Amino acid sequence: MQQPCPAPTILLIEDNPGDIRLTEIALREGGGETEAGCQLAVATCLRDGVERLDRNGEAVDAVLLDIGLPDANGFDGLIAIRNANGDVPVIVLTGLSDHAVATEALRHGASDYLEKAEIRPKTLWRAIRYAIERKKSETELLRLANTDPLTGLLNRRAFFEQLEAALDQTRRSELACAVVVFDVDKLKDVNDLHGHAVGDSLLVEIARRVKAGLRRTDSIGRLGGDEFAIVAPNLRSANAAIEIAEKIRRTVDTIRVVAGVDLSPSVSIGIAVFPMDDSPADVLVSHADMALYKSKARRGGPINYYDQRMDRAAKARHVIKKNMLGDISGGRFYLEYQPIVDATSFALVGAEGLARWCDAAGKVIAPGEFIPIAEETGWISALGRNLLAGACGQIRSLLDDGIPTVPVSLNVSAAQCRDHSFALQLVNAVVEAGIEPRAINIEITESTLIRNVETTVRNLDLLKSVGIGIHIDDFGTGYSSLSLLKDLPLDALKIDRTFVADMTRDTGARQIVEAIAELSHKLHFRTIAEGVENDQQIGLLRRLGVDHLQGYRFSRPVRFEKFRDMLRSGAAAAAGSTTTARQQRSA
Ligand code: C2E
Ligand code: CA
Ligand code: CA
Repeated sequence: MQQPCPAPTILLIEDNPGDIRLTEIALREGGGETEAGCQLAVATCLRDGVERLDRNGEAVDAVLLDIGLPDANGFDGLIAIRNANGDVPVIVLTGLSDHAVATEALRHGASDYLEKAEIRPKTLWRAIRYAIERKKSETELLRLANTDPLTGLLNRRAFFEQLEAALDQTRRSELACAVVVFDVDKLKDVNDLHGHAVGDSLLVEIARRVKAGLRRTDSIGRLGGDEFAIVAPNLRSANAAIEIAEKIRRTVDTIRVVAGVDLSPSVSIGIAVFPMDDSPADVLVSHADMALYKSKARRGGPINYYDQRMDRAAKARHVIKKNMLGDISGGRFYLEYQPIVDATSFALVGAEGLARWCDAAGKVIAPGEFIPIAEETGWISALGRNLLAGACGQIRSLLDDGIPTVPVSLNVSAAQCRDHSFALQLVNAVVEAGIEPRAINIEITESTLIRNVETTVRNLDLLKSVGIGIHIDDFGTGYSSLSLLKDLPLDALKIDRTFVADMTRDTGARQIVEAIAELSHKLHFRTIAEGVENDQQIGLLRRLGVDHLQGYRFSRPVRFEKFRDMLRSGAAAAAGSTTTARQQRSA
């Protein structure tokens, strides 16, 4: 006995009201063919029809498409429908008894065609039913042709098809696409010890779990044996690939018992990333394979990049990420202080606090390596709080020891400024330490300013009102508007060190420094030049009326103990020089 067909949903795309009516009647009368009849949706133009398919393509079982729509030319409509949903069968309704048109429709992917004049309830229903059934078996065949029978993942051929498509798409974007291959360690032992059925179950289990953890846009295939491959498009950086690899590793790590046997499997992983590795699909996969073999040999750990440089960079970032949070709370981050001096007297007038990280092995890591990661992970707020508390505590200890202090400038990143409570936390830390607010300045960049104007301004207003100084860092490299500068409660502009470095040989750079100095004076801000390395620069900066100087010419950033000595001897020198001046006056 024939299975009763459930009520299919049919989308009729037709602009002629008379034809719509006729089709409705034919469907209703032919409804005796199924127990439940059908659901009919009508779209009167192509755009509307495509929209419906886009919206709920799965709910439509077949499309009846009029070939003469007002907003489609020839077979455009058919192509648009196929693009919107390639899985739904389309029956073309033609007006004229034209065999050529009909054949052409079939060549464009239509499942069948009917001449409107010939539409009878029975023929219409039969055409619909056959189209649906045929499409189903076509889809099933296609699925079988594309899948690996054991795991249900893409087979090798289908995987390469997906990879080619992803590479095409990546070429048109600014993003990266990773090929991540992995294989199961010691699968041969599992097969030998427990039999192939257990080995197969393990492969199935790994495939199932790894696939479940992927993004919708990623594709995973089994390339053969125990080797799997993933293509992950739309990545912002090559580093994202290592996250995918890590995830695979963690997922497989959670598998213990399979088919009643404790297997606790592990995988080795190799990565190649396009377009950093600008190779065709097959070469990319073989590159990822090469990295995989390195992992297999346990050289460089269970995950490796094909590219050596990328490999090193990714590993370094990975280590940083892994250890950073613990080391923030463990107090392994601290500040070095770089003196800032008066441009005429060279007296110590301030210092910039610069973050350093002493890792567990005792290696000091520069902020350029960890600040971007701290920002990306959001740990910058915790880090900033720790460093601030450290600075406040050290200033307090100087006061306690009777050592005269100078204001310390702390760098604040955009993520901190976005936090509404940032200023309040800062003020609290200062109050708690019992130091004066003017002992602290903050340095923010122009891009921070313009990226979160509202919150930033609120934060800055509060800081300013209690007397904390606000300096714009790296000035000249961003784009802040003059009106913004005028309206903000600023105290100083720091001329970016690249201009200072270039100013003695490049007139353009010198003119920029000149313009910044002039602007700064007009707006009554102090000007600080950073990165001062030689006397020629000092001469020029002084002539331009820059107020304060900072750079290796005076001192590199130093540990707190050394900074304390500088403050102490600075005070002694100042005392000495006043004595001399007094002696000179009395002489
Ligand atoms: P920055 O704020 O522009 O800091 C000045 C950088 O220039 C420091 O590098 C300093 O060591 C370096 N420098 C000082 N004098 C000279 C010189 O004469 N010549 C040259 N070539 N360089 C000089 P450092 O310490 O590596 O800091 C790099 C960047 O890291 C800083 O740039 C800042 O953007 C960021 N940073 C440092 N500490 C912190 C922090 O606590 N929080 C945040 N958010 N960022 C920080
Ligand atoms: Ca700075
Ligand atoms: Ca700077």
